[in-house]
Amino acid sequence: MKHSNPVLDTPPKITLGITETCPMRCSHCYADCANAPKPGELTDAQWIPLIRDLAENGVIQAYFEGGEPLAKPGFLNILRATTPLMMTLVRTHGIGLTADLAKELGDIGLGRGLVDLLGADAATHDAATGMLGSFAQSTAAIANLVAAGIPTDVLVILTAHTAPQLNAIAQHAAGLGAKRIGVLRLYPLGRARAAWSDLALSMAAQTQALATLRMPKGLELMQSWHPNNKNCCWQAAAINAFGRAIGCMYLRDYVDFGDATKTPYNEIFQTDPLYRALRSGDVEESCGDCSGTQGSHGGCRSTAYAFHGRWSAPDPFDLTLNHGVDLTVPPPARAKGGSGADHLVA
Ligand code: SF4
Ligand code: SF4
Repeated sequence: MKHSNPVLDTPPKITLGITETCPMRCSHCYADCANAPKPGELTDAQWIPLIRDLAENGVIQAYFEGGEPLAKPGFLNILRATTPLMMTLVRTHGIGLTADLAKELGDIGLGRGLVDLLGADAATHDAATGMLGSFAQSTAAIANLVAAGIPTDVLVILTAHTAPQLNAIAQHAAGLGAKRIGVLRLYPLGRARAAWSDLALSMAAQTQALATLRMPKGLELMQSWHPNNKNCCWQAAAINAFGRAIGCMYLRDYVDFGDATKTPYNEIFQTDPLYRALRSGDVEESCGDCSGTQGSHGGCRSTAYAFHGRWSAPDPFDLTLNHGVDLTVPPPARAKGGSGADHLVA
């Protein structure tokens, strides 16, 4: 089983799961978000020096997500401190993202906005978010970001509820001036694992939904299904709301590589044995088609571990590596790995 990935000494970009606070109550929320900050979340005063250290150590891009980054107290202070140092992206559901705030984000230098839609109409989207009026606010947020001159993408997680509306969501995104639409797989994390039976699609249904997607003119598609199923662990880095190094936000329930406020991220990146193994691409099976287009091996390590309980297992979301795994059956909870796995987050 040797399928090595490119090797990096330091990560070029990082995802910052800046908070697990959010005003919405999505049934699939990976962060199991709450209304108020959870105990132990880093403050803006703690994030800023951490981000400066990352920039001094070669990180050139920060992707902020949550929770809802805009609900993080002091988030604009964090963004202001980051834009002179790195390219910045913010993933948001757009609640409260008014025209004035979009302009302020543009003035601060935000590089890109990404807004999640969970339906093409208020009934579907608001049912998924648990918040009446959220579709109108997310729609306004996309328009406001575009009007402020910020390149903006729409993200949609492919579920039993979004699949029938995929074309309508793409039309909606294009009509609002979005540049790209990202169609993302559903991960069995947080509340999504508990709601799996209601949300998850079979491999065949996912493939069918993508095959019937007709992209509106001018809108670019981002998707990582076969033959584009990449392993991006090889260059991935992430820190959660509590300052823990977790490699990727989609590994949030499965790993803890240590405290990034105490140990430089690059040291964790270079020394944690599980982190190194996940980046290696040394997996039991690799899809030749996907490796050919992506230059990396094994597909996603998060879903491989979730469904098989082995870090080197085949990624069941890849058409050629699925081998009959029923993706509509929720996988069991898994043990956490990594050097910091004994640490208890409150
Ligand atoms: S909007 Fe995002 S962060 Fe908020 S509850 Fe939904 S999934 Fe979680
Ligand atoms: S766990 Fe999956 S999504 Fe995350 S970096 Fe690895 S391959 Fe990419």
